[in-house]
Amino acid sequence: MNKIIYRDPSITIFQSALFQTNSTVVRTEDSILVVDPAWLPEEVANIKREVDDMRGDRPVFLVFTHSDYDHIIGYKAFQADKVFMSKAMADNPRKEEAVEQALDFDEKYYIERSYPIEYPQGDFFVYRDGVQYRQGQTKMTFYLTPGHTADSMMIIVWQLGLCIAGDYLSNIEFPFIYHSSVDYVKTLEKLPRIHDRNWFTRLVPGHGDPALSINDWLHRRTESLAYIYAVRESIATGVPFDDASLWNRYRFPRLQQKYHADNVALMTREYEQGLWTWDPEFSLEMLQDSPIEANQNIADEEGG
Ligand SMILES: [Zn+2]
Repeated sequence: MNKIIYRDPSITIFQSALFQTNSTVVRTEDSILVVDPAWLPEEVANIKREVDDMRGDRPVFLVFTHSDYDHIIGYKAFQADKVFMSKAMADNPRKEEAVEQALDFDEKYYIERSYPIEYPQGDFFVYRDGVQYRQGQTKMTFYLTPGHTADSMMIIVWQLGLCIAGDYLSNIEFPFIYHSSVDYVKTLEKLPRIHDRNWFTRLVPGHGDPALSINDWLHRRTESLAYIYAVRESIATGVPFDDASLWNRYRFPRLQQKYHADNVALMTREYEQGLWTWDPEFSLEMLQDSPIEANQNIADEEGG
């Protein structure tokens, strides 16, 4: 059964018993936001009960940070007024695969649900960085964050200083890179700029604990970059990767060594294709929890 790992008058974070998957419910005066409602039937029912209790006559908005099956499995339990996703998620050529994975999971564990499993149908599509959506006083801004998957995105709720990040900046997972390490690094690099435009102190990752201060998520960002650069260094120079220190930091090696091996395979292919190069002058010590500073702007745009 899921538990509530964070609650304040506006934000409730439900964490599943499986993979510490987070589902976030945000209540503002104007709307209820439900982000990635997940996993077991009773857990999804819990989230739905909370939403039904608090909604009153507010619209319910469902937001999906990306199309991995664990994040979309609860979709049909909700009658949403609007569904938000990236344009890439709507155009995902492998929709059926995501649905199949969810069906596989349920069948493998004899799980029955009171709702069908379907790929989410969107109403609002995020096609570029800085797209905004307003509902009364509630303002949300969306950013494309490819790297983990091609269709990942983040959402920022302005008046709450809250970023819901999808599968980035977890304290229990190093970067799982299914799509592109080049894009993954770009996404991490633009985070301080996103912060400059939007200001958020709290960040909810897809799995693990929320980061409740700027320093906390900046530190996770540095750790994620350090991991990617360490894998790249090992691929480019042939120096063995330091597995022991990885498993000192992340405590679920029995599952995660497969993800690490997949990352190495993907980044090796990227290296062979010339998608990134290694600078022998670069040292991991050069990575710091860079202080937030206003630098390049990311253009914002009102979306509709
Ligand atoms: Zn996930």
